[in-house]
Amino acid sequence: MNTKRTLIVGNWKMHLTVAQSSLLAHRLHTVIAAHRDIEVVLAPNFLALQPLSLEIDRRRFRLAAQNAYFKDEGAYTGEVSFSLLSELVHYVIIGHSERRIYFEESLEMIRDKVAACVRNGITPILCVGETSAERKVGETKQVLHDQVVSALSNLTSEEVAGMVIAYEPVWAISTFGGELAKPDHVKGDIDFIRHQVAELYGSDTAKKVRVLYGGSVDDHIVSGYLELPGCDGTLVGGASLNYQKFGGIVEAAYRLNRKPKK
Ligand code: PEP
Repeated sequence: MNTKRTLIVGNWKMHLTVAQSSLLAHRLHTVIAAHRDIEVVLAPNFLALQPLSLEIDRRRFRLAAQNAYFKDEGAYTGEVSFSLLSELVHYVIIGHSERRIYFEESLEMIRDKVAACVRNGITPILCVGETSAERKVGETKQVLHDQVVSALSNLTSEEVAGMVIAYEPVWAISTFGGELAKPDHVKGDIDFIRHQVAELYGSDTAKKVRVLYGGSVDDHIVSGYLELPGCDGTLVGGASLNYQKFGGIVEAAYRLNRKPKK
């Protein structure tokens, strides 16, 4: 029996003012019920995290930050540390492709962020995925291997078992083209990611780590990914800004959990 809760994460990116974020959270509250088997996580911008932490119903929603800096404190003007976030959020998204590409975050920096996240009692949502160019030259597996192995290199097996890895092929993310990934393709890469975890930390840890899929997912296509064996949920960008679409994604997950997995 699958005892993991399905994890649905909405990445609001650099959208929405504080007031708009509150309004969206309020609307989500009207369409999303608390389900024991589904965990819904909202990732607003930094400014909206504090007010939302006071407003949301914690039985229905958890919060994630979209990024943080790997030093715990110090003279790092403009940065926000994991330790500062630790009272506010359950999760931090680390290594999103927009961070890797636009902000040139290296494998080493992402490794240090994952370690800082865990050190501060927050669960990392580590994003991995190949670009369109890497896919075309057949480098997908090598890229996933390097991203997974380097990011996990300073962790214990218990820490890895508790974390989340989101497979997000860059070419499938709406901001980078949004080509829809075939579920068969996604299944192969999710299996490969778990295999990497098993090689490093053993099969028990690999079974426990939650692996999500993300890339232009909406309420119409989400079931095709969620029903894949080994897919524990989804990371949603664009569609998470629309309360009906995001509510529809949670609803689809709820319905699927009532059907036996393929
Ligand atoms: C994302 O931002 O992680 C994402 C998957 O975006 P989208 O759903 O818009 O492709």
